[in-house]
Amino acid sequence: MSRKVSPKDRQHVRPEPLYPLFAEPATLTGIGPRYAKLLSTLAGPHVVDLLWHLPTGLIDRRHAPPIAEAANGQICTLTVTVDAHQPPANRRQPYRITCHDASGGLDLVFFHARGDYLTQMLPPGATRVVSGRVERYHGHPQMAHPDHIVKLEDADEIRRVEAVYPLATGLPPKTLKRAIQGALGRLPATENLPDWSDPALRQREGWATWQEAVRAAHQPTAAADLLPTTAARRRLAYDELLANQLALALVRRAQKKRRGRVLAGDGRLSAGALAAFGFPLTQAQERSLGEIRADMAAPQRMLRLLQGDVGSGKTVVALLAMLTAVETGAQAALMAPTEILARQHLATIGPLAAAIGIEVAVLTGRDKGQARAAARAQVASGAAALVIGTHALFQDGVEFHDLALAVIDEQHRFGVHQRMALGDKGAGVDLLVMTATPIPRSLTMTYYGDLDSSRLDQKPPGRKPVKTTTVAIDRLEDVIAAVGRKMASGEKIFWVCPLVEDSETLDLTAADARAAALTEIFGDRVGLIHGRMKGAEKDAAMDAFRNGGVDLLVATTVIEVGVDVPAATVMVIEHAERFGLAQLHQLRGRIGRGDRAAFCLLLHANGLSQTARARLQVMRDTEDGFKIAEEDLRLRGSGEVLGAKQSGLPAFRLVDMAAHEDLLVIARDEARLLLDRDPELKSDRGARLRALLYLFEREAAIRFLRAG
Ligand code: ADP
Ligand code: MG
Repeated sequence: MSRKVSPKDRQHVRPEPLYPLFAEPATLTGIGPRYAKLLSTLAGPHVVDLLWHLPTGLIDRRHAPPIAEAANGQICTLTVTVDAHQPPANRRQPYRITCHDASGGLDLVFFHARGDYLTQMLPPGATRVVSGRVERYHGHPQMAHPDHIVKLEDADEIRRVEAVYPLATGLPPKTLKRAIQGALGRLPATENLPDWSDPALRQREGWATWQEAVRAAHQPTAAADLLPTTAARRRLAYDELLANQLALALVRRAQKKRRGRVLAGDGRLSAGALAAFGFPLTQAQERSLGEIRADMAAPQRMLRLLQGDVGSGKTVVALLAMLTAVETGAQAALMAPTEILARQHLATIGPLAAAIGIEVAVLTGRDKGQARAAARAQVASGAAALVIGTHALFQDGVEFHDLALAVIDEQHRFGVHQRMALGDKGAGVDLLVMTATPIPRSLTMTYYGDLDSSRLDQKPPGRKPVKTTTVAIDRLEDVIAAVGRKMASGEKIFWVCPLVEDSETLDLTAADARAAALTEIFGDRVGLIHGRMKGAEKDAAMDAFRNGGVDLLVATTVIEVGVDVPAATVMVIEHAERFGLAQLHQLRGRIGRGDRAAFCLLLHANGLSQTARARLQVMRDTEDGFKIAEEDLRLRGSGEVLGAKQSGLPAFRLVDMAAHEDLLVIARDEARLLLDRDPELKSDRGARLRALLYLFEREAAIRFLRAG
């Protein structure tokens, strides 16, 4: 018996033709539970993920010479008659099967083979087609472990160009291929899953249907077919981009539809704060603040991204925006990604707020018991006009008296969904998202496409450039000596330890060891800070560095974001080649904040690859975060640039941002146009586009059709 589904609900369930693609890999013929698990790890939990697992190489098996003409080392497909089996005399020897054709003899060689299996596959007297690499052993041709052994009538199956896929340990290539073939076999017919793309675009780009494009992408016949620029791969990338842009546009529309409030301050508090700063805003700050205030004053909700390099003055802009909200009698909150940063914001904002008579509350995970209860009470009663904290700010149980503006710092650690949860904390809360990681325009569009964007592309005056040098690790002693001289003249040093295989434990070991080694030289002027420390310990370590006797602070990347110590003039980064450029840039931004000249030393391993060298070169050549980000994208690809793995951002499967950027712009414009015409995706085309959203698992966005 089938459950009754109302026509309205039907718009919010996965279209039936997609069911087979969203089954588990274990449902594929010939795939047992063990391999299914490996497939899930390799490609993803659903059959559809295998479609996105594209070949990265190919093997041409069309070369089918007589045995005598098969060259050493070449992949050949040979037609042979089986002569005799020679089982090995002991376990170290291979099992050998002699064969021939009219031109000469060939041995098939198997290690650790099962005789009964080989007898069945290659019975003496039979003709078989075998494919693999031919090697000449003492002049005699042999083939070890042929990739394929088939009967003559099946020769066409193997005598062609074969796709080569990225593999997982323990997963035989043949099994992976069988699974992918199985997945391809589940492609819904075009009648059941009609094409969602724009016919004019399809024609202009010379694209086939989606189904044909998927098949073509898995059937390369030449090396050029593996490039991101082929019609098939562009088509698939476009589909993924369109799904992404459509989802973002849906979220954006739904959020915008919610009524915002008109927040027009009288400028009283922000004028006081500006006077307390003692400096005029930069042009970029003025422009961004203008954009933010215009959004706040408009009746729609603000959803804005403020991007700016480290030190470009975002916090100052955010504070002025928050004060604008407070001027209207409402509250404003600032959420930081870490405890350290929340405390640091408090250190900056607290005194300013006190100067203009504003109460600030702090809510972080660390506050417990009475302190927490007191802070919550202040927030709930409205006594605190400004609230600063971490995620704890937006946990259940925290009630605001009247929250009007939420500022999220360092957004790239949060996702779209957290962004939305936050907006739910107050009626029509305006949202300002700040990121200190300048990201390329293309990635702004794909990851923050639901937001409007302001850029602080100018630094406050008087910043000294940071002189950046790359140094091979074998000159470590010189570096330590130079660091010692700086310390002797009263300067402070950050010493950042390398990333070790994404493992915090190993990171820590490296940092521990370095701190110990440096302590032997510099004694207790050396401090250590790392991610495993408790909040209070971190604070103490930072404090000892900022105000106390510690002049050299060894750190894992916990110092990456936001930490401000003006006396720090030198940053040493070990194994700089292991870091992303954006990360190096962030780290480097920690220094050069005072008035002394600042130096960044990028220690690297000997014998760098060309790309690694090019990347460090970029760091030496420029301090412009936006430029660095564009270069990083070009050199490394988009997933890496954002550190998608750590941040939990959705990674693209088929998009290569460096190659497909033109498609992104088309997809964005098309998504907006489509929703302008058919905001609820109700038309025929709308239904197809819903299927597209499901196909790329962007269905979370579909709920906004209903919510709106
Ligand atoms: P960000 O948050 O972008 O890293 P901040 O707002 O923390 O930058 O500003 C970095 C430093 O520059 C702070 O010490 C701040 O007081 C100072 N600053 C900000 N804006 C200006 C300006 N317009 N002129 C001079 N100094 C500024
Ligand atoms: Mg800041």
